[in-house]
Amino acid sequence: MFQSRLCTRTSRESPKDEVAMNAQLLERAGFVQKAMAGVYSYLPLGRKVLDAVENIVREEMVAVNGQEIFLPALHPKEHWLATGRWDGFDALFKITSRHDFEYALGPTHEEMLVPTMKKYIQSYKDLPFSVFQIQTKFRDEARAKSGLLRGREFRMKDMYSFHASSESLDEYYERVTYAYKNVFRRLGLTAYLTEASGGTFSKYSHEFQVPIETGEDTIFYCSGCDYAVNSEISEQGICTKCGGKGMETKASEVGNIFKLNTKYSDPFDLTFTDESGEKHRVIMGCYGIGTSRLVGTIVEAHHDSDGIKWPEAVAPYAVHLLALSGGEIRTKADALYSELRARGISVLFDEREDVSIGEKLKDSDLIGLPHRIIVSEKSLVNGGYEYKKRAESTSVVLPQQELLNLFGQHS
Ligand code: ATP
Ligand code: MG
Repeated sequence: MFQSRLCTRTSRESPKDEVAMNAQLLERAGFVQKAMAGVYSYLPLGRKVLDAVENIVREEMVAVNGQEIFLPALHPKEHWLATGRWDGFDALFKITSRHDFEYALGPTHEEMLVPTMKKYIQSYKDLPFSVFQIQTKFRDEARAKSGLLRGREFRMKDMYSFHASSESLDEYYERVTYAYKNVFRRLGLTAYLTEASGGTFSKYSHEFQVPIETGEDTIFYCSGCDYAVNSEISEQGICTKCGGKGMETKASEVGNIFKLNTKYSDPFDLTFTDESGEKHRVIMGCYGIGTSRLVGTIVEAHHDSDGIKWPEAVAPYAVHLLALSGGEIRTKADALYSELRARGISVLFDEREDVSIGEKLKDSDLIGLPHRIIVSEKSLVNGGYEYKKRAESTSVVLPQQELLNLFGQHS
């Protein structure tokens, strides 16, 4: 991609109405634009990151046999009345149509999904299975000051599983826990599996919490084992599992998993018949991941004072190629651009002619692609191209072939 053609603009100034670091950097680097508090537009760079995050989440849900669906965001009021959440869910956005009908904008999808599934669950033979979607959610959040960490319109992956027995749910819950660990590891994040309140079936639910200074939650994690607990349910100095020292940190809840038991199959009378023909309510689990919150969390966890440092797996482009002037340098840079792309490497090529060297370097640090290659008079005199990783401070000059070898062989 030619940077001169990219629909974006960097800025040296932090937006005045943003206090959250993730939003400041993402806006300055041209990934998103704030539309209003808690609502963001994704520009091409931001959209690529969000897609990369959501694709990793999708792959891991498919790996635990999740089947992808897509439910409406506009929900009938009756479903929300049935569960008592028309009045019970504080952050529910309610809409009145010009014909005076009322609707909810989906903040989560149990109310939409459970009635939908009645048609496909009759016998124990239909169970277990799970479905998931990746979708825009709406919540009338009281405070939306944390950038992508807390949106009023945001993206979420929500998965729901259906079981004939609590043993079957327990087993699947374990598998999803493992899949979630894979997701966060692939995204370059350390996420603690954290006990929290809110379980309806078991005593606790589990959250996945990523330690960041600006997180909205406080957790205690054990220095000796992998146990962690949300401060809302414990003030833990000593780990109850191994006796290790409890460490306190701010954290961002990037996902959570619940055993719902029959909380939603009761109001919608979602049942199955067992082998002897007896009817039972279906047992359910639900599993959320905040995909747009993840984009913000990755920025909070991976940046420095100059800009973002994208992990390879979600970077909008792998390489930032900078031509530091025209003429022969531009010709060399054009050739390198073609060679890299022929190897299947995604490249953002800063070929802008009216931008100073200093500006190009600053933009490159701000945008934060994992690999940077500079073609300049100096690099050519030194026998090649200057190569530097965004996450490292030192650069090396490499001849073309050696440089290309870093990115794998020509296919
Ligand atoms: P929180 O405690 O942060 O308000 P929650 O417990 O209400 O979140 P769920 O309803 O279980 O969250 O949603 C699943 C996931 O969606 C959360 O773990 C979080 O990552 C994400 N999420 C929830 N609310 C928001 C929001 N307003 N903006 C962005 N992501 C959100
Ligand atoms: Mg929560």
